[in-house]
Amino acid sequence: MKKHPFVTLEQIKEITKTYPTPFHLYDEKGIRENVKKLYQAFSWNPGYKEYFAVKATPNPFLLQILREYGCGCDCSSMTELMMSNAIGASGDDIMFSSNDTPVAEFKKAAELNAIINLDDITHVEIVEKALGKLPKKMSCRYNPGGIFKISNDIMDNPGDAKYGMTTEQLFEAFRMMKEKGVEEFGIHAFLASNTVTNEYYPMLAKVLFEVAVKLKKETGADIKFINLSGGIGIAYRPDQTPNDILKIGASVKEVYEQVLVPAGMGDVAIYTELGRFMTGPYGGLVTKAINQKHTHKEYIGVDACAVNLMRPAMYGAYHHITVLGKEEAACDHKYDITGSLCENNDKFAIDRMLPEIEMGDYLFIHDTGAHGFAMGYNYNGKLKSSELLLKEDGSIQMIRRAETPKDYFATFDCFPIYEKLIQG
Ligand SMILES: *Cc1c(COP(=O)(O)O)cnc(C)c1O
Repeated sequence: MKKHPFVTLEQIKEITKTYPTPFHLYDEKGIRENVKKLYQAFSWNPGYKEYFAVKATPNPFLLQILREYGCGCDCSSMTELMMSNAIGASGDDIMFSSNDTPVAEFKKAAELNAIINLDDITHVEIVEKALGKLPKKMSCRYNPGGIFKISNDIMDNPGDAKYGMTTEQLFEAFRMMKEKGVEEFGIHAFLASNTVTNEYYPMLAKVLFEVAVKLKKETGADIKFINLSGGIGIAYRPDQTPNDILKIGASVKEVYEQVLVPAGMGDVAIYTELGRFMTGPYGGLVTKAINQKHTHKEYIGVDACAVNLMRPAMYGAYHHITVLGKEEAACDHKYDITGSLCENNDKFAIDRMLPEIEMGDYLFIHDTGAHGFAMGYNYNGKLKSSELLLKEDGSIQMIRRAETPKDYFATFDCFPIYEKLIQG
């Protein structure tokens, strides 16, 4: 399927009069339509709730939009908890799904009355000791191990993942927690990432629903929710078919009716912690071609770099690129699209067929709305870009300003040279 940017060259020319490139641009309309569809897909489950994975796009303006639809926040760090609290989320609106967790973060989560989702059995006692007693409602993260397969396609390798408890530990943790006064339980698992198939959630649901029935039978635990977590992917490549969330919701319902309802568990709420699926396609990195180089290969240098979007450098991930204004032109030039880091993996695309690029052309790098800006770093002293929101009415709102050298040098403010650093 041809991938279309959600903005035109004319709009970008207008926007760059005020906000220089590079920037991440988010599409409010796309985000809203998608979250509505997600809630529609799970409307058969009265307790359904999405906890947006804050790490995917930690921007309070976007969190606030999602909250309008009833989304909570899925956090796994101190600052994510702080941000969620700042936008008014607390109690059952926050899921704390952390791992390798510092005690201070458990304490913060408890202070906000967040639901704590334990990654490990040793945390039962750590949390009890830190808080004095366990909260009334808690959750455990499950890792069945082995390899997670759909027919013959390996999707992911839970046996190799650091997250979650083994089956034995899960049952033991439930017994311990019950003894220590926990009254309401949840279970959670995240077994495969960026799945571009409608089969992942229903398969995961079957694993979790079956273990929930056993847990209830063997430990007597009152299971209130089952958290399918994240992992629903997006079609980064034009040849991929995007997931159909309505189909996914309907298939999870079938498994629910097969496994949970006959076990007398027809009141269990389904939770999700989607990140990528919620915002990924509704963000793009807009950057300008500023250099060209003809050596052993043809290079186009842009004003963004891996600091703004790390996925290609880190995972070799594909991000589609549209040269704005040349949407219909033939892709008859082969380029490496590079950033300016002194790192040879700082390439947004390698051997990519694109229309001929001229200096000053704007490139739209697709699907950066999740795990894009958020993964940014400051290598080579490069500064993070701004984040802009294309509002439903077509206007632009800056939802994060670009970093300045002063931000970059801020942590040197305890040294005598600081004044000189910020003067440049
Ligand atoms: C990263 C993460 C998510 C979101 O994953 P996506 O692939 O963005 O859907 C959800 N839950 C937890 C615990 C995570 O670590």
